[in-house]
Amino acid sequence: VVRLEHARKAFGGNQVLNDISLSVSPGEVVAIIGPSGGGKSTLLRCMTLLERLDGGGLWYGGFSAGEDGELAVARPASGDPRGRAVYGDKGALAQARQRFGLVFQSFNLFPHMSVMRNIMDAPLVVQKRERAEVERQARGLVQKMGLAGCEDKVPCQLSGGQQQRASIARALAMNPQVLYFDEPTSALDPELTGEVLKVLKQLAAEDTTMIVVTHEMAFARDVADRVVFMDGGVIVEEGPAEQVMDAPAHERTREFLSRFS
Ligand code: ATP
Ligand code: MG
Repeated sequence: VVRLEHARKAFGGNQVLNDISLSVSPGEVVAIIGPSGGGKSTLLRCMTLLERLDGGGLWYGGFSAGEDGELAVARPASGDPRGRAVYGDKGALAQARQRFGLVFQSFNLFPHMSVMRNIMDAPLVVQKRERAEVERQARGLVQKMGLAGCEDKVPCQLSGGQQQRASIARALAMNPQVLYFDEPTSALDPELTGEVLKVLKQLAAEDTTMIVVTHEMAFARDVADRVVFMDGGVIVEEGPAEQVMDAPAHERTREFLSRFS
């Protein structure tokens, strides 16, 4: 679904992503773990086109039958003829962005809009879909996220967990091919964290393709198919969740995981 190859990103002289390659298959759940400052958020921001890569390629593929998918972004790594730089092309950028949803640590809902309007806004305005159909889907998502009764409330009337579940509903309303989460529970207390993790678990069980930056080691172990450990702008280690979490190959991974036990 998404393939990142030899990605590089620097801020000033600070090389934040140093030759990162990562491919995610349909239905896969990938957890990204690692110490603060390791480049996890920057990686998600590059993969969701909020930041521009300095080098490497990013492909979103497998959309239309028979086609390996078109390149959404960046400098084609190897002169791939499908390569297409979209950073400067607002239309192409907006189209590419519709392929994924992004949920942040801070729920960033529109504060003046009700839950329903928050969920329906982008499908109506960006995707220009039909109102009745969007509303039907939004009501379904409200139920699914356990937000029945909150339809007309504005974000400040909701708990943190409810706000985060509304953010997830809003991301899902775009029918994204990939859902990205950047520490979706780190602003929540343990009880509310549990609510949100339950929703993520349910999405994973439904074969939603997800890339989740998380400090919840139990979630990484139990829900993710694959765990990626990042430190200092590189992928130190990645593999099946049980393997990385229970039998890490690298000393740095072991040292990091030992902080949580
Ligand atoms: P955390 O676990 O604390 O969220 P992280 O792994 O998400 O950390 P990043 O936020 O990606 O780490 O930051 C990686 C490095 O990039 C840090 O040194 C940070 O200071 C730097 N950085 C990130 N964004 C910018 C920016 N917009 N301008 C300059 N430096 C940045
Ligand atoms: Mg971060």
